[in-house]
Formats: sequence, C-alpha cells, structure tokens
Amino acid sequence: MSKKQFKAESKRLLDLMINSIYTNKEIFLREIISNASDAIDKLCYLSLTDEGVGLERGDFRIDVIPDKEARTITVRDNGIGMSLEEAEKNLGVIARSGSGAFKAEMDQAQAGDLSIIGQFGVGFYSAFMVSDKVTVLTRKYGEEKGVKWESAGADGYTVTEIDRDAVGTDVIMHIKPDTDDEIYGSYLEVWKLKALIKKYSDYVRWPIKMEIEHSERFETGETNDDGSPKFDYRMVKEEETVNSMVPIWQRAKSEVTDDDCIAWYKEKHHDVKDPCVLVRINAEGAVSYKAMLFVPGEENGSQFYGETKGGITLYSNGVMIMEKCDKLVHDYFEFVKGVVDSPDLSLNISREILQHDRQLKIMGQNIEKRIKGELEKLMREDRPKYEEFYKNYGVHLKCGVCDEYGRYKDFLRELLLFYTSEDKQQTLKEYVEAMPESQKAIYYASSDSVKHALSLPQCEEVRRRGYSILYLTTPLDEMVLECLHDQDGKSFCNVVTDDLGFETDEEKKAADERDIENREFLDFVKESVGDDVAKVKFSRKLASQPCCLTTEGGITLEMEKYFRHGPSPEMRSVRATRVLELNDGHAAVQALKAAFDGGDKERAKKLAVILARLAEMLSGAEIEAPAAFAALVAELF
Ligand code: ADP
Repeated sequence: MSKKQFKAESKRLLDLMINSIYTNKEIFLREIISNASDAIDKLCYLSLTDEGVGLERGDFRIDVIPDKEARTITVRDNGIGMSLEEAEKNLGVIARSGSGAFKAEMDQAQAGDLSIIGQFGVGFYSAFMVSDKVTVLTRKYGEEKGVKWESAGADGYTVTEIDRDAVGTDVIMHIKPDTDDEIYGSYLEVWKLKALIKKYSDYVRWPIKMEIEHSERFETGETNDDGSPKFDYRMVKEEETVNSMVPIWQRAKSEVTDDDCIAWYKEKHHDVKDPCVLVRINAEGAVSYKAMLFVPGEENGSQFYGETKGGITLYSNGVMIMEKCDKLVHDYFEFVKGVVDSPDLSLNISREILQHDRQLKIMGQNIEKRIKGELEKLMREDRPKYEEFYKNYGVHLKCGVCDEYGRYKDFLRELLLFYTSEDKQQTLKEYVEAMPESQKAIYYASSDSVKHALSLPQCEEVRRRGYSILYLTTPLDEMVLECLHDQDGKSFCNVVTDDLGFETDEEKKAADERDIENREFLDFVKESVGDDVAKVKFSRKLASQPCCLTTEGGITLEMEKYFRHGPSPEMRSVRATRVLELNDGHAAVQALKAAFDGGDKERAKKLAVILARLAEMLSGAEIEAPAAFAALVAELF
C-alpha cells in the first residue's frame, strides 16, 4: 500500500505536534471528542428527515475506551462517519478552520514559542501530541464500505477501503512510550480520562461513556460462625456516562456563574480575550427561550475561523438546528455570538421560514433590547470599556443607523459616540445636555483624524464662543448625522460648509455689501487661482487663519476623498465644489489686497496662489506640487 504525503503545511504542523514541548497536551482528548460530537450532531440532524438512519436521539453516544495492554485510547462515535474522499480531504490536509489559523499564527511566532498552541482548537492533529500512530476506522452513513486511515506521523498516511458494519468513527490513538519528561501512559488511566472529560467536555451534548471499574460488596454464600452471611468485595465494570451533558445555557443561573459562561465562550470560540458583554436570558411568556450571548472582546478574535456573519447558534431543546443564524438579530448586532435555545422553534426550520417566523421575530426583538440594555449599562458603569467596545464595533452601529433609510436610527442613536476632543467622546444626548443656552445647533467638523478636524480654521470661531464640536473622522460619520437628522430638536451644523448662524441680520447685510464692493478684487483672486476653486469670497467664520477652503452643495471634501477610492470611474470623478474663503482682517489678506490695489498684479497673483495652497493644506489635503509651491514662496523674499 503506497503511502501518501501530507500537504507541506500539514506536515509542518504535524512536526510541531509530534515534537511539541507544549505542556498542555491533554487537550487532545477534548479535540477528538468534539469532532465526535459534531459528527453525531450531523447524523442526528439527518435523522429528523431521514428515517433510514434508524437511530433515536437517545441512541447516540461517544465511547472512550482505554486499553492498557495495547496502549491505545479509542474514541468511538456513532455519528455521520467519513467516506474515503472525506477521510483524505479532512485528515490528509490541514483542516480548514482551527489548524489553518494556528499555522498562520505559528509562522509568525518566534521559534520555540509554543505557548500559543493552547489558544487554538488544533483539531484532529492534536492526537499526535500523545500518540505515535493514529488509526481511524470509519464508515459514512449511506456508504457501503468503510475506510481505514492510518498515519504514524509526518511522513505520510495510508487510506484503504475496509469492511465495517457500524456507521460512525473509531479514532484509535496509539499512545507514545513514556519518556523521562512525560508519562504518556497516564492517559491510559481511567481516572485521568474521566477527569479530562469532566474538565473539557462536560457540556458535550451526547453521553460520553466509559467502562468504570469499581468494587462491589457481595454475599459469598457462606456464613459466619454466628450464622450471618459472609460478604466479600469484587471489582465490577460498569458503564458510566461521565459528562453532565446539560448544556451550560440550560442550567439554572444559580448553578452556573458568569465566569463559567465566559470560560465556555472562550473555549468554544477559541478566543483568548474575555468577552466585553455577557447577556443571559431566561425568557418565559409569549415565547420561551434561553439565551447566552457574548460580545467578543475584539472584533477579529475569531475571524480566522470563518465565523463572520451569524454568530448565534439556534437550538431547540438542546438540539442544534442552525449553526449560524443571521436572521435573529439585525446586521448592526452581527458581532454578537452565542446560543439561543427555544422549545418553540421547529426542528426542521429552514432559512426561508426563519425570515417569516413570528416567534423568531419576537425573540429577536427581545434579544436586541437586552443587548442594547447591557451596552447602555456598560456605557454608564465602565466608560473606558464601552469606548473599547465602540472602537471595535462602532462601525456596525453606524451602518445600522444608515441602513434601510434610517429605520433603526432611534434604536441605535443612544449607543453612538463622537469625539469632542482628542481624548473625549460623547453621546449626542450628553452633547446637547452640556450645550450653553445661547447655542442653537450641534456643530461638527470632519477630516481624516480628530487631530486634523480640530485644527480646521473654521472651528476656531465656534470654540471661541464656548461651543464644543463633534470631530468626525469618516464619511460614514457624516452620513450618520444626516440620517439622524437632529438630536432633541437641535439640528447639525457643518462648521466647514454651513452658515454657523452667528451673524445678526445686519452683520449679514454688511458682509454681503462688502462682497459686492470687492467684486473686482475677489474675481481677480479667482482668476489667479484658476479652476481649483469655484468661487472666492470673504469669510465670516475665520479667526486667526488667513484663509480656508469650504464647499458648496452636498459633496464635502471628506466625501470626495472617500469617493476617490470608489469602485466606478463615475464615483471616482466626484468632486466637491470648492470655495476659497479669505479673512480680510488678516495681515496676509491685507497684503494681497494692497498689492492688488497698488497695481502690482504680478505680486498679487502670486500671493493669491499661495493663499489658495495654504487653504488646501489647512483642509488636510496634500499639496500636489510642493516644489513649485516652495519656489513661489521663496520668490517673495
Ligand atoms: P475541525 O474540527 O476544526 O474542522 P479537525 O482537524 O479536528 O478540524 O477535523 C477535520 C475534519 O475531519 C472535521 O471537520 C470533520 O469533517 C472530520 N472529522 C474529524 N473527526 C471526525 C469524526 N469523528 N467523524 C466524522 N468526521 C470527522
């Protein structure tokens, strides 16, 4: 029989497993049992619609069978089994999920730093941490023949067809000989295996059975001198279900602490970080359900595992009916992971039915309210932690506000945060509550960072009046404000483009007149600057800076920047209508005006171009031709 080679990366991982100096080798059992449990899930699910399976829910089981003489541990399941192709695909190559990500991380880790192994579900290969050979005997439900897969490590594996009666899988681990450092034989001890099952696999839904030997008192049949029966002790083997099986979320709150739930989450989702929110629900009423939900501490904690959308698994009375349900909560909460278990859900529910299922809708609404409630609580009680949450997931909430024409905006608005300085964020409610009496609108400025937004010259006048400003850093933020429309009746005002509302009618009139009087001068500046700006005017909002760039119409400079990377040429060609605003109280503008009035058009033209470039710089844009600009400035000395 010819030996087949593992794929290169699988070989490397196997090498690591085999030669692992990692102390937590015991997790191998958890991994193999969890595969067995998944395989049973699959067959059990199939049995709901396929009578041919011939097994009742109560018939499924996992057996853990140590054999000291043969020095093997067998983990047997009566689950779905594997076909020949599947055995090759699943066991011959690094499995898609856990181990693939593990390998990616391993490549980056320092040589010898194996502490990271424990962070990953390392899957089937972990058997090689304690075994020098692994034999898999399996038969897939519906297949005639069975399969034998065998490997003694990194140099390859064999796979052949065999006769096998039972559907399901035996994973036979041939335990390594003991070494000075490691007594591998201890894994063959029943007490040790039992302890490992309790520790790692207690909530596995299927019974994990072992033959446990214990002593039993029995009547020998003889009598003592006084005529009483004689007793003796003997060892008997009895089958025992080692795990408690009841899923953690099904157990009473008094029995399971929050820490237990968190530990469960971390193991299940291969996450090293504590979740930042835990929601436990035991609802009874119109719909009854139990839920245990988590907001992961970090967004990408488990992206390696392909767990992007639909982090909630649906169960009906402990039977998994949908692994990734993305219809229970809206996309704005798509980062929530966990389980929802309801006896009211039908077992053979399909994605299409889910969408229209009334029960599910009610459940989803309740769950969303609870999640929101917990987030609000976090915001009240631990602001830094909430800000951390918002850093990770704020974008989902913002997209949620803009989604479906703002349908969910009022549900989400209280969860939003905006920067009001580089190190402070506020909700809109907080902002409005802190507004001075005289302030009429909510001011905002956008740029690519808070720092840039803060330094926009247009902000000065607003701040001088003691009003704070929301500093937006993405075009999405602007869209969010547009969708929200107002906060407690206060509308939003873009300090860059909108009328700040500070001028009295008289002041406005005077300013208009000033523009008319200076028409010739402003036209000259416009002509000097060229098509880069659509208009030049005197500013009504500048304080210390000589000039600034504003826009007219719906497209702001930030939006333009955003569209520049858009997918279509039309999108990329979207331009804001730029207006160059000049501060006529500033010496630089006065110098330009003096040159113009004095008839030195050459000099006036240069000064105009310099001011236009300065305005661009102040808006956060990069100067297109810095050398030409430098030459222009240098000429004036
Ligand atoms: P993971 O479980 O993370 O996908 P593993 O390396 O543990 O990765 O397993 C690889 C694949 O092999 C599983 O996804 C499954 O398809 C298959 N497999 C492993 N053990 C069994 C089993 N006992 N019964 C059926 N299929 C199994």
